[in-house]
Formats: sequence, structure tokens, C-alpha cells
Amino acid sequence: SSQSAAAQQRPRSARVNTLKMSVAEALSWLRTPKRKTSTMSADLGQQVTVDDLLPDVLLFPPATDLHDHPLVKSSCLILQSKASCMPAHALAPQPGWDVLDACAAPGNKTTHLAALMQGRGRVLAFDKDARRLQRLKANAAATGADCIAACLADFLQIPLATSPDFRNVKGALVDPSCSGSGTALSRMDYLLPSHDTQRSAGCAPEPQSSAPETGITGAGQCAVAGGDRVPGLGKGGHSSDAQLVPHRGKESTGERKEEPPQADQVHEKGSSSQGRRSEEDRLERLARFQEAAVRHALTLPALQRLVYSTCSVHERENEAVVAAVLPDARKLGFDLVDPFPAWQRRGVPGSVEGAEKLVRTDAVEDGTDGFFLAVFQRKGLF
Ligand code: SAM
Repeated sequence: SSQSAAAQQRPRSARVNTLKMSVAEALSWLRTPKRKTSTMSADLGQQVTVDDLLPDVLLFPPATDLHDHPLVKSSCLILQSKASCMPAHALAPQPGWDVLDACAAPGNKTTHLAALMQGRGRVLAFDKDARRLQRLKANAAATGADCIAACLADFLQIPLATSPDFRNVKGALVDPSCSGSGTALSRMDYLLPSHDTQRSAGCAPEPQSSAPETGITGAGQCAVAGGDRVPGLGKGGHSSDAQLVPHRGKESTGERKEEPPQADQVHEKGSSSQGRRSEEDRLERLARFQEAAVRHALTLPALQRLVYSTCSVHERENEAVVAAVLPDARKLGFDLVDPFPAWQRRGVPGSVEGAEKLVRTDAVEDGTDGFFLAVFQRKGLF
């Protein structure tokens, strides 16, 4: 079909994990003849290019299979779609910042944030799904991102406005559960034989571990100074047993047991058999949660920038969420800013004031997943 043809023609992308290797080192490694492996064609090193928008993203020819590449196995290269690398760049966290990742697992963007911060500062990562949070911890360890503190909790229950733990958080990424409708081609890609999968945002089905857990041992998972617990989380609700992962090499013992899939994690379940009405209900449910998550993150007292992203193509989960929260954001002193002025594809015109500052990617036209992102920035900072 034309869709599978499009899936086959997409360049393969990988993010250089700059905590382990610079982009120049990765290119040099790939271009050194003696290091070519059987999984790479002889001239692959000449064909790899650096993405023109995201300086840590490498593009390989379509159908390149990088799964067994030594740089991937050692987590120097992360198989990640270009689109799913955009949110961390859009947030542009500075080394030393405190940053919050609201819906973080399996942690592709969390580890990207840590890399952009050069491992300095703190990335406070939340997820309410114990199994997925374990994968985030494994990814953090494998990538050497030891400034990540992983916390099993319902993000909406975290006392962001009052707890001293969040007093200095300057950046927030809200990448919540969504319909995953923008990753359909990636899923198709995955079904094609002999092709690597560009897993984006943790939304595509992932039959294998998303990051190699071998090769790196003893990497710390949390370098959070101060207490282990998030103040205010001890009183019932989903968050009662939430803990920041305490110290290097130690696992939290306070995690919830694995739960059955949540209703809002529909991107993992698919919906082809559902009727149109239930599809609308589903989108509405997702959008309500997305709005609540953005609104909650905006209450962080020292917040400077917030990125909202989805791997959905639905306006209800994208521009309409921005439209719903924008009045509240403005009351709190935030407005939309444009993270990538050179990018052409924008929010649906007329959907919300400032749609031209919103970023969309198209799964066919842009050769990556269908994605959406919005950046809210505190006024006076631009
Ligand atoms: N940002 C991740 C990445 O790049 O790897 C992907 C996040 S995925 C799209 C959405 C995540 O939100 C899921 O792991 C889900 O468990 C989590 N989630 C959903 N509702 C939540 C809530 N109320 N609190 C915390 N996490 C939640």
C-alpha cells in the first residue's frame, strides 16, 4: 500500500546520547572503516547525515537496521524518531536546572533532557505505571543519565505549588498519554520485515526492550540531593507510595504493584473495533487529562518554560488542548512561543490564537512520526 511504501521510504533516525559521546565522535566512529559491522552496509558511514534542525539527531538511509549496532547496544545511539526528539530541544533546559517530566516512561525524552543538561541538575520524572517506570529506570541507567529521579506517582496528585522539592523547577515537559495516531506508520514500519523500528514517545508497540540494558553496569539512577520522598505524597491516593529513587544503585522499595492497563493508555491498546462515538469519547477523555496535566504543571512556582507534546494527529488532543489551557496560562503569566522558527508545518490555522507558533510534523511529508508540540513561556523572558 502507499502507506507501507511511505513507511519504507522514511529515513532512519537515531539520537546521539551526548552523555556518552559527542556527535563528532559518533560520526567519526560510524565513518571509521574498521568499525563497520555486518549490520551496516559498507558505505553507511558516508550516508549518515546530521539533521538540519536537531544537532544531536543522525539520519540514516531508509531500512537501515541499527538494532544490533555497537553504538546502539552501548546506548551511545538511541533509536528515536526525529519528531520525538523535538520536545526536549523545544524545552531547551540549561545545565543545572531542575526540570520535571510529568508523564515520563519509558523515558526517551527524559534521558534526552538529561543529555541536553549535560547531566547537571535534576530531572524529576513521574509516571503512574510501575512497569513502564522500571523501563525508564533501566533506560536512565543504560544511558548514564544519573541526574534523573524516577517517581511512581499520579502526576496530578503531586503538590507542585507547595512542596519545596519543586520550588526551583524551571522547565516542565508534559508528554501525556495520547491516542498515538501519529505513530501509525511507525507501527507499520515495525511490522515490515528486516526494518528497525523508530519508537517514538513510547507510543508504538514495543515488543523488545526499548533500550539495551546490557553493557553499562553500576550507573546511578538518581542523584537527588536531599530527601527521598516527595513531601505531601503520604496521604492516600495513587501517590501514597510514591518515592523518588533514593540513591545510586538502590532500587525504590515503595513502588506499587503493576496495575492492569489504564483506560487512558489507549495508545497501547488500539481502537480499530470501536465505533466512532466511542472514539470521540476516548479522545475527549484523553484530552481532558492532557488539559489537566498542562494546567497542573503550570502551577510550578518558578516555571519558565513548559512543553506540551503528543504523538497524535487529532486537533482535539493538540490545538484544542492548547486553546483550553491558554487563558489560564496567560493569567499565570505565560504565553506561546515558537521553538523552531525555521520549521514550516504549524498548528491548524484558526484553531487557537498563536496557532502559527505551534509545531506539527507529518508522518509522510516530514519523514518522521506525526507529532505536535506547544511551548509556553513565562512573559518577560522573551
Ligand atoms: N514521554 C515518554 C517518552 O518519551 O518516553 C512517553 C510518555 S507516554 C506518551 C505517556 C505516559 O504517561 C505513560 O507512560 C503513562 O503511564 C503515563 N501517565 C498517564 N497518566 C498519568 C498520570 N496521571 N500520572 C503520571 N503518569 C501518567
